[in-house]
Amino acid sequence: MDRVILHSDLNNFFASVECRYDPTLWEKPVAVCGSKEQRHGIVLAKNQPAKLMGVKTGEAIWQAQKKCPELVIVPPHYDRYAKFSAAARGIYESYTDRVESFGIDECWLDVTNCRKSGEEIAEELRSRIKSKLGVTVSVGVSFNKVFAKLGSDMKKPDAVTVISRANFKDTVWKLPVTDMLGVGNSVYAQLHRYYIETIGDLANASPELIKRRLGKCGEAIQAYANGLDSSPVALVGESHPAKSISSGMTLPHDLTCDSEAKELIYYLSETVAAGVRKQGMRCTEVSVAVKDSKFERITRQKKLPVPIKSTFEIAAAAYSIFTENYSWNRSVRNITVGVSGLVPENSAVQTDFFSEDKARQRLEALDGAVDKLRSRYGSECLKRAIVMEFEGLTERKSFDEGEK
Ligand SMILES: [Mg+2]
Repeated sequence: MDRVILHSDLNNFFASVECRYDPTLWEKPVAVCGSKEQRHGIVLAKNQPAKLMGVKTGEAIWQAQKKCPELVIVPPHYDRYAKFSAAARGIYESYTDRVESFGIDECWLDVTNCRKSGEEIAEELRSRIKSKLGVTVSVGVSFNKVFAKLGSDMKKPDAVTVISRANFKDTVWKLPVTDMLGVGNSVYAQLHRYYIETIGDLANASPELIKRRLGKCGEAIQAYANGLDSSPVALVGESHPAKSISSGMTLPHDLTCDSEAKELIYYLSETVAAGVRKQGMRCTEVSVAVKDSKFERITRQKKLPVPIKSTFEIAAAAYSIFTENYSWNRSVRNITVGVSGLVPENSAVQTDFFSEDKARQRLEALDGAVDKLRSRYGSECLKRAIVMEFEGLTERKSFDEGEK
């Protein structure tokens, strides 16, 4: 018997939540943007009126304002998004114990064993979420996860799309292949060379060619295109990712200046950032705890304008927290760098704009390469220049690692 899988996507999630907190915004074009003050602030999310004015996720604020001078800019509130996300999950979990989050605003549900049909449940979700949370969802209904996700993208906002065995060739196959889960930029670059532009092209391409060019990943995405995705929807509570990650060190000799502290902070950030990436997450908060030579402890944290995962960005955020809050009245005995507010790295809202952000992409690609080399050859095989300086410094001091 076929499974019945739903994919529910909260529409214009960040912007919709902001409009719930300030109802005067509903009719206006609204963009949620990181760092409003900085010239480089970018659009993280926008509501429907802004979308109609051509505002795009990932573009700079000034670009968006050129197209839409009356655009209302609001800062992100990740705590609010987390609250709404959890409330939506609560509604999903009233139907089934197979509910799997994909990013903060999307979930799969396996409702195979429910009495009602998939479409009935999808319609119920749509109206329950609208009346209980005041935001809308689009829901895809299908016999596997990949097609259910495609379905939730096809009609939105506030809509239900059914992709069945009978209609998938007519509905799904004409979509661009890049709409499908698993087809990112690098995979598409390969497919494009062989004139594979739609999901149907991929479904019907020579399996030998796909396997030769793309290996296992190619076999997987070609199976998806043919409706052969049997991956299960995870059970509620199946994975328990950490809520926060930190790394700290007590030095046998105190640190006495910013440049020493900077080196330690970069060193600790390596571990923390690798932990974030290993879980497939990004963080939205960075904290720094400092213990001084009199064992007085201060902890300061900062919410980030966008979720990050690269070592460099986490370290830079941590170091700026340090310099903004520590004035060297005493020397420093211990520093701990921590991150929290973890969100899945491929949160749907973020993917577009991260791919726009070339600098971030480069940093993340570099980290990916470093992680891979380290997992193969051990963590000592590669060191960032700043960390090597730090180790030179501490070798003389022969530090030991503590307070992990
Ligand atoms: Mg969404």
